[in-house]
Amino acid sequence: MYDVAIIGAGPAGATLARLIGNSRKVLLIERRDLLEQKKKNTITKLCGGLIAPDAQYMLGKLGLGVPREILAGPQLFTVRTIDFPRNLERYYQRHYINIDREKFDAWLVSLVPSSVNIRCGWFLKSLERTGDSVRLKLTFNGKEYIEETKLLVGADGAFSSVRRMLAPKISLPKYLAIQEWFKVSENLPYFSVIFDPTITDFYAWTIPKEEFLLVGAALLPREKPREKFNLLKEKLNNYGFALKEPVKKGAALIIRPRSAAQIYLGEGNISLIGEAAGWISPTSAEGLSYAFRSALALAQSLQENPRDYLRAYYKRTGELKYNIMVKNLKAPFMYRPLLRRIVMGSGVTAMKISKVLNGA
Ligand SMILES: Cc1cc2nc3c(=O)[nH]c(=O)nc-3n(C[C@H](O)[C@H](O)[C@H](O)COP(=O)(O)OP(=O)(O)OC[C@H]3O[C@@H](n4cnc5c(N)ncnc54)[C@H](O)[C@@H]3O)c2cc1C
Repeated sequence: MYDVAIIGAGPAGATLARLIGNSRKVLLIERRDLLEQKKKNTITKLCGGLIAPDAQYMLGKLGLGVPREILAGPQLFTVRTIDFPRNLERYYQRHYINIDREKFDAWLVSLVPSSVNIRCGWFLKSLERTGDSVRLKLTFNGKEYIEETKLLVGADGAFSSVRRMLAPKISLPKYLAIQEWFKVSENLPYFSVIFDPTITDFYAWTIPKEEFLLVGAALLPREKPREKFNLLKEKLNNYGFALKEPVKKGAALIIRPRSAAQIYLGEGNISLIGEAAGWISPTSAEGLSYAFRSALALAQSLQENPRDYLRAYYKRTGELKYNIMVKNLKAPFMYRPLLRRIVMGSGVTAMKISKVLNGA
């Protein structure tokens, strides 16, 4: 019997396992091969791989610095904002750490203490509450295994099985994120954010990563997302992006919490952290800082009040819920075309890019 079983070793699950692994008997279940990076055909996490300032703050707070091998060039200091229908473009200062997301996740797992039983390539199939514990049905290499735990933590991301099994009625608005990698000979050092209501009511992006350009969009799943993604590429090509050599493409769900009521932290001996709980920015889809914050809050709650840890977890994350509510209030200034035009048109806080001068 484990004290705590964590499903998912993404940033939220790996962080929680690192924080509590020395003081409890912990089982960490992950379907990806995060311990054996070199394997072919492994499942990978679809991500832009940008560590935003809030996540940088959290890494600092957790006493961590990112190793050099995880970085991907170029490091980015500018966001290029493009409003396609208005043909409006602005640049803003913002520092992102550009990373290789698979390496980042593998590094976080490498920090988990050896006392934690890490099982990569394992999958949670179902769960059942039995008295004071939770019985897990797990699969590995086509075989089924049963484990029992006193507490279960769902850190299994946007399409959380734990959340679906525990609270199927508390839904969260979901987008289909499609991202494609293009080989490019030259990359501009900008994270581009593209607004275009004919494509999505959220946003699309381009991110330079070594010799590739990542093109992605968070699309409404019921509004022909694949056609909209093709339209985005066409518009980007017309705008001057050279998207000629596609390399790989993927799709994943991404959530967008619209109210605090959609954040669900669990009940009894089952709790949720990271995107499984609904923790992600509804304006930028930045999720790493929320994964770290919620994992830290749960670890502190387990330490502070083991008997009533959920109440402590609710309390400790009150501010984070407030943060999501405030972001939702600010959202119209980014996502309502008229308000966005006023903000971008004003040029406030925007910077001018100085190009190399030619000739005398
Ligand atoms: C296209 C895209 C781009 C993004 N770009 C950025 C970005 O640049 N910066 C940023 O901050 N955020 C970004 N995000 C959001 C960010 O990736 C997530 O919010 C963040 O990874 C959440 O961390 P997590 O640990 O909660 O979940 P995840 O990182 O999703 O981890 C969940 C883990 O659970 C595992 N798992 C799931 N189900 C099971 C199961 N049944 N059994 C076993 N294991 C399971 C998964 O394999 C995964 O490793 C992006 C998201 C998408 C979709």
